[in-house]
Amino acid sequence: MSNLFTLLFFILFSVSGFSQPYHNYLENINTDYYWQQHADYKMEIDMDVKTYQYQGKQELIYTNNSPDTLYRVFYHLHFNAFQPGSEMDIQSRTVVDPDRRIGDRISKLQPHETGYINVNSLKQNGVAVSHKTVGTILEVTLNQPIIPKEKVTFTMDFNAQVPLQIRRSGRNSSEGVALSMAQWYPKLAEYDFEGWHADPYIAREFYGVWGNFDVKITIDSNYTLGGTGYLQNPNSVGHGYQDTGVKPAKPVKGKYTWHFYAPDVHDFTWAADDNYLHDKIEGPNGMTLHFLYKNDPEILENWKNLQPKTVELFDYFNRHIGNYPYRQYSVIQGGDGGMEYGMCTLITGKRSFNSLIGTTAHEVAHSWFQFILATNESKHSWFDEGFTVYMSNLALNEVMNQNKDFVHQNSYESYINMAVNEEEQPLSTHADRFKKNSLFGTASYSKGEVFAAQLEYIMGRENMAKTLKRFYRDFAFKHPTPNDFIRTAEKVSGMQLGWYLTDFTQTTNTIDYAIKNVEEKEGKTFVTLERKGLMPMPVDFYVAFKDETLASYHIPLRMMHEIKENTYPHIPRTVLNDWAWAYREYTFEMDAALKDIKIMAIDASQYMADVNPEDNIFEVNRE
Ligand SMILES: [Zn+2]
Repeated sequence: MSNLFTLLFFILFSVSGFSQPYHNYLENINTDYYWQQHADYKMEIDMDVKTYQYQGKQELIYTNNSPDTLYRVFYHLHFNAFQPGSEMDIQSRTVVDPDRRIGDRISKLQPHETGYINVNSLKQNGVAVSHKTVGTILEVTLNQPIIPKEKVTFTMDFNAQVPLQIRRSGRNSSEGVALSMAQWYPKLAEYDFEGWHADPYIAREFYGVWGNFDVKITIDSNYTLGGTGYLQNPNSVGHGYQDTGVKPAKPVKGKYTWHFYAPDVHDFTWAADDNYLHDKIEGPNGMTLHFLYKNDPEILENWKNLQPKTVELFDYFNRHIGNYPYRQYSVIQGGDGGMEYGMCTLITGKRSFNSLIGTTAHEVAHSWFQFILATNESKHSWFDEGFTVYMSNLALNEVMNQNKDFVHQNSYESYINMAVNEEEQPLSTHADRFKKNSLFGTASYSKGEVFAAQLEYIMGRENMAKTLKRFYRDFAFKHPTPNDFIRTAEKVSGMQLGWYLTDFTQTTNTIDYAIKNVEEKEGKTFVTLERKGLMPMPVDFYVAFKDETLASYHIPLRMMHEIKENTYPHIPRTVLNDWAWAYREYTFEMDAALKDIKIMAIDASQYMADVNPEDNIFEVNRE
C-alpha cells in the first residue's frame, strides 16, 4: 500500500471504526427439503503397542434418510494411503512443490511400518456381503438394496496397522507421541444431495456421516488417552479423568478398556501416550477443557499458559458465532502440525507460545466450521479454512491484545500476489486437484479469508456479524454449502449476493477499479472511475479536503438491488446513482473545487481486494 493510502486510512479510522445498523429482513429459513444420512457406530479395539497393530469389531447402524434406494455403500480406509505406490505416495512425489512432511517417505516404508486396514468380514443384517478394497476405499455391493427410511446393520471384523507418522495420523511422531489416531477405522462415506463422497485419501480433507459413536479401546494400562467423546468409565481407568480421591481399577492382563461415547459427531479421533501430562480446567458454560501433553520441562510453561487463553478463545467464538454444543474439548499434543477433529485437536507441542496459541485458535475455530457445521471440505476447502482463519484472526486480536488495524492484511496480500503472479485456480477446485500445494494453500486459507472479510465491505460489518450467527443457528449439524451461507447473507442484508459467490469462488476474475480522470469545470470536480477487472463491486469513494474535512460517496452496484449502510457514519456520505456492471466507466460530480481537495481514494477500508490499488488514489498537486 502506498503511503498516501495508509495516510487516508488513518484519517478515516481516527474518529471511529465501522458501526452501522443492519436491515431486519429475517424470515424463517425453510429446511424442509433437507435430509441427511445417519450412522451409529459401536467399535471395540484391542491395541498392541509393540507391533502397532490392532484388532477391531465394528457394528454400524445406518439409516438411509435420502429419497434414494442405495445399491452400494462405500467406506474410507484412510490408513491404506500409507503404502508405497498409493495415490498419496505418487501425488506427493510428483507434485511440483511436495509437502515436506510427506516427500518420498511413504515410498520407503517397510512392511512393518506401513498403514493398512484389512476388512476380514462384513455382513449386512447378519448376511455376508461382497466387498472389495480399492486403494483407500472399500466398495460394498449390497445383497438387499437399502430403501428410503430403512435402517440396516453392518457388522465388520477388521485388523489394522498404524503407520509410522508421515501425515496427521501415525505412531511415534517427531515429538515422541506414541499414537495419533485420526481416520483410523473403516469410516462410512457420506451420501448427500450430491451423491456419494467416496473420495480417495490423497493428502487432505474429510467429510463424514452424522451419528453417535460408542468406542471401547483396550490398551496397556500405562497409556493416557484423549480424544473425541465422553469417557464413560473414568473411575476405572484414572489417568486424571477419575473423581478426586478415587483409585482406578486393577488392569486386566496389564490393560485397561477405555469406553468413550460421542453423540452427534461425524468422526472419532484419539491419541495415546505413556508419558502424557493431563490437566483439566473449566471452560465457558460449564464445559471441561482437557490438555494432554508430553511430560517435557521444555514445553511445560507454554502448555500451562495456553490453558486460560483457550478458555478465552471458546468464549470469543461462543459470542461471535454461537454456543459450542458439546461439554468437552481436548487440546492434545500429537499429529504433525495442527489438525481439527471432533471435540479435540492434535497439534505439535514444541512451539513458541505465539505459535501454540495461534495454532490452537485456528483448530478451535474449526470446531465451528469443520466440525459442527461440517461443510464438505474436500469440495469447498476455502469455505472451511477461509472462515476459520477469518474468525481465528479476529479472536486472536482480542484474546492476545494485538490491537491490529487490519487483522486480515496478510491474507489480502497473499491472495493479491497469487491473483497477479500465479496461475490461480478457482476456489471451487476440489482440494486434491490443485496444481501446486501452494496454490491450494493460498486459495483455501488466504483467498478464503478474503471472501469472508470482503463481505464486510460489500454488506457492512453488522450484517456480516449477524449472518455468521444466523448461519450457525440454521445450519449447525447440517453440512451447509457455500450457497447456504450466501443465501443467509441475502436474508439478513436484503441484498442480492449470488454474483459474489459465483465470481469470487467459481472464477479467477479479479477486482480492479481505478480513478481514470479528474477534472474541474465551473468550480465543480468531475471524477471518472473505470472498472478494469471483470469482477463487479459496489464502490466507496473518499475525499479528504485541504481543510481536514472528509466526505464519502457510495456508488451502489446495480445487481445488488440494495444500498449498504455508511461504513463510517462520522463521514458525511452521498449515495450516487448505481453502476451497472457492463458499463466500463462511471462519472460523477462533486460540488467542490479541485483546489480544495487533498486526496481522493477508492475504498479506504482496504477490505475490497483490488489487485491494483495504486490507481485507486488521486492526490491533487500542491501549489
Ligand atoms: Zn485449518
